[in-house]
Amino acid sequence: MSTHKQNESCSCGACDAVERIRNMTQDLLTAGSRPDEVAYALVSVATEMGLAVSEDPLAIYPVLLAAIAQQTVQKMGDNESDVSTYEAGPSAGETIH
Ligand SMILES: [Zn+2]
Repeated sequence: MSTHKQNESCSCGACDAVERIRNMTQDLLTAGSRPDEVAYALVSVATEMGLAVSEDPLAIYPVLLAAIAQQTVQKMGDNESDVSTYEAGPSAGETIH
């Protein structure tokens, strides 16, 4: 999988999925779901899917970690990241498990 900027101009399957899941995530937070529980659910689903479609369980980790690394790098270089649009962000010191 190539790199994606996850901007609105890219309509590849990965960026389309991110946009749709981002909207669903925003809805969950708006409805009062806890951010740590939403994050746990999203990673659980990604892992579950990877294990279901991959012959090698270890093959899912590079995909998951690449997404984490890309989002982190993007956040570090973007002070106006759309992550800030999440209204119910984790409070200071809260552990994301
Ligand atoms: Zn893309």
